[in-house]
Amino acid sequence: MAKKIKVKFKGQKEKKLKKQNLTRQLLKIASSVTLLILLVAGAGVLGYIFILKPLKSGPEPKPATIERPADKTKTHSKPDYEIFQNPIEEPLALTKLKPIPIDLLPIIAIIIDDIGYDRHLDYQFINLDKNLTFSLLPFGPVSREFSKLARAKGCETMLHLPMEPVEYPKINPGPGTLLSSMQPDSLIAQLQANLDQFQGLKGVNNHMGSHLSTLPEQMRQIFSVLKKQNLFYIDSRTTAQTVAKASAGLFDVPFAERDIFIDHFQDPSFIKSQLKKLVKCAQLQGYAIGIAHPHPVTYKQIKSYLPRLKEKADLVPASQVIRAIMDADAN
Ligand SMILES: [Zn+2]
Repeated sequence: MAKKIKVKFKGQKEKKLKKQNLTRQLLKIASSVTLLILLVAGAGVLGYIFILKPLKSGPEPKPATIERPADKTKTHSKPDYEIFQNPIEEPLALTKLKPIPIDLLPIIAIIIDDIGYDRHLDYQFINLDKNLTFSLLPFGPVSREFSKLARAKGCETMLHLPMEPVEYPKINPGPGTLLSSMQPDSLIAQLQANLDQFQGLKGVNNHMGSHLSTLPEQMRQIFSVLKKQNLFYIDSRTTAQTVAKASAGLFDVPFAERDIFIDHFQDPSFIKSQLKKLVKCAQLQGYAIGIAHPHPVTYKQIKSYLPRLKEKADLVPASQVIRAIMDADAN
């Protein structure tokens, strides 16, 4: 009996030893895994500090082109803006008009878009030159008042028609926007309501619209209204896929395209070089259409470059460029 107890005791002791060994091994494995995790985490932190962080703190990327009416009046919320990642610029070698007689200067129209949200800046532009063309956003806090002033001064105005961009609704063109989801009746009613905001409009160009201007059906609805009201259309070309030209052709609406975006980077030397490009474009084509926005830096650069521009080209309202294009097409 005593032997039996001794054997049993010995068996228990072995079991206990085995259990202790197992626990020790498990502890070893656990500590190795912990060490490995710490090493990997440490390497990650060091990698971030020494490799990624220096890369991130490098020079800031150039600002994306924005289209935003500045609003110093603070009486209305600002309209949203569309980002032009790659403003579409056609090569300057195209000669769309017949060669110009040597004693005549080519013609240039500069459209100031996004008018109606900043009384101070908008008024600065209107006092700059009466041959600038002003494109008014419907329902802006000072849009209607500006329209009256422009008519009194004999300046040409257009409706700056808010149209759905690709990024909608993240980016919203503001009140009066024509959307792809609208039924024909409501799209036409909205367009009419926008036009009814103003008197004396000569034409229309698109505010944003990188999505809507690719849709033939909606564009045809727009041009059916423009035709009835004898308005021209200038395609701002916010997308390379725009079908505005073909739709305008169907309805025989006087039509032109923007040649140069002047201030998609608000940098003085960039704006100056775009103005030079505009002149070059006019010399090659016989005419050129530029689009700018009411930014202080744009105002300064246009003001300082205008005398030189006028030595090389005639600054004219947009309708005069449209007429020249129609005359050239007719001959
Ligand atoms: Zn605009």
